[in-house]
Amino acid sequence: SDNFDQQFDVIVVGSGGGGMTAALVAQSHGLSSVVLEKSDKYGGTSAVSGGGIWIPCNDDIAPNGGSDSYDEALTYLKTCIGPEVPVERIEAYLKHAPEMVRYMRNTFGVKYTNVPKYPDYYPNKTGGKDGQRSMEPVDFDASLLGAEFDKQREAFKGTLLMGRIAMTQREAHVLFSRSPGWVMLTVKMLLKYWFDLGWRFKTHRDRRQVLGQGMVSALRYAMMQKNVPLVLETGMDSLITENGRVVGVNVIQKGRKLRYGARHGVVLACGGFESNQKMRDQYLAKPTTIEWTAAPPINHGDGILAGQNIGAALKHMDKVWGSPTVRKPGTEQQITLFIERGMPGCVAVNSKGKRFTNEAAPYPDFRDAMYADDAKGNGTAPCWLIFDATFRYKYPMGIFLPGQIEPDASLPKNWLDKVYFKAGSIEELAAKIKVDVNGLKQTVTDMNGFAEKGVDPQFGKGTTSIDRYYSDPSVKPNSCLGPIVKAPFYAVQMYPGEIGTKGGLVTDAQARVLREDGSVIAGLFATGNTSAPVMGATYPGAGSTLGPAMAFGYVAAKVIAEEA
Ligand code: FAD
Repeated sequence: SDNFDQQFDVIVVGSGGGGMTAALVAQSHGLSSVVLEKSDKYGGTSAVSGGGIWIPCNDDIAPNGGSDSYDEALTYLKTCIGPEVPVERIEAYLKHAPEMVRYMRNTFGVKYTNVPKYPDYYPNKTGGKDGQRSMEPVDFDASLLGAEFDKQREAFKGTLLMGRIAMTQREAHVLFSRSPGWVMLTVKMLLKYWFDLGWRFKTHRDRRQVLGQGMVSALRYAMMQKNVPLVLETGMDSLITENGRVVGVNVIQKGRKLRYGARHGVVLACGGFESNQKMRDQYLAKPTTIEWTAAPPINHGDGILAGQNIGAALKHMDKVWGSPTVRKPGTEQQITLFIERGMPGCVAVNSKGKRFTNEAAPYPDFRDAMYADDAKGNGTAPCWLIFDATFRYKYPMGIFLPGQIEPDASLPKNWLDKVYFKAGSIEELAAKIKVDVNGLKQTVTDMNGFAEKGVDPQFGKGTTSIDRYYSDPSVKPNSCLGPIVKAPFYAVQMYPGEIGTKGGLVTDAQARVLREDGSVIAGLFATGNTSAPVMGATYPGAGSTLGPAMAFGYVAAKVIAEEA
């Protein structure tokens, strides 16, 4: 077993949030660890994400005047998830998630703070909360990373103000819900960025790293401090087993085949299969294409396939962390619509011009509703978001910032009637996008009536705290409902995309990979989107993918250390 090119106690495959956490925690337990990364950039989808982690009973809740309990969180999760995930795994999450956040802060200086106002996605279910459980990374100064910062996967322009300036989730909420102080906040952020001249001379990227960039920067910096190696351009090809135990990985390093040995464990943290069309066709609802994903084109299901090859069980392969997406030319990825659908003065319609769901629904539910309506033959995958001049002026819409910051005149000329559609009347707009004219006219008339009364009798838009989280509090009586009356009228096409696939290797409460018969594959662990989700088919709150990715990365490392 020693004919390896390199040997470590723990080999972690993939440099997203879960992978880097596992490698760090292993190191702090006295084990040698390494992170192998296939691409030439570290950070994965985690680096372009909001960086949010959903952590019930986190340490910030009480100081912020909130409350939570293990029992409430367990009730909520069991209600959301149902019987599909063993309770031991859910309990392992609840137990280890807040412990992981504390450990990462105290041991490595990887800091999170909670977002008190961000509600759970089903706040009205038993045990659901109107805030406090989502956390976001604390700002990180990129200059600490030195040259290593250039190797970090860049954030999408869409999550940055004017494509350059970083803002936290708290700031984004103030900005996009036009809460008191939003103008001052924008000005402050613009000034801070523009006057950071020395730094701007070096790079167009903001020195202040937030969201997924802040998370990945902090993890990478900790790895540098603790001398945990990161090896880029080194993709796992397959697992090496010996008497049924995983003892290493075969990798391809810049075209060269190498064998990396793992004395105590391999942690697969190499993402889902968003960018593998063959797997999408095999497992996901149709139609489906790699072009609709909001994740960068880096994850091809390698970890899932490698595990499956040695007998691991798979689960939830037909599920994704869904989200509607829009296309912005010139960017590699699609842009997710987390914020804009909740704003007043828009409707989402199918090819018949009819609404099919609450526009402000949690993004995974919105994506699922698109497929459900499409299956009825209504032409909903893709569908359209329709809005008027007032909406365009005040609110962002995926491909552009509010018109008052980024007016149509500043957009590329060739976008008109390709990337977004614009017309003087609803009739003309419907004709341009080939949506049923009478259907759309009726829908708009209906919405205008709903806006006046403040009640959406069709889908109840604006009834929950999560609907209203991104809305316009100055709009009365319902901050999510506004009329569509002022020309020009706009349409943007939305795809049933995702921010990551969900299904993967079945793991137990200790992050160990299992076979179909429930037995443990010795030496093999998985976390993040390589593993089947602890959340099952649901999405309980903002940070339900990265929270578990980090928590079970932490658990895997501890279990390996205990067994070593
Ligand atoms: P990744 O972070 O993608 O990491 C996998 C890594 O493995 C990649 O670097 C990849 O290159 C590498 N890799 C792939 N194959 C191999 C191989 N064979 N060998 C070696 N390396 C390999 N989730 C949240 O919980 N909260 C949020 O706020 C949030 N916001 C989001 C915003 C956006 C715009 C997007 C797109 C996603 C968001 N998500 C969020 C989803 C979240 O980012 C992903 O679910 C999460 O990053 C998945 O983590 P992972 O470690 O499984 O994969």
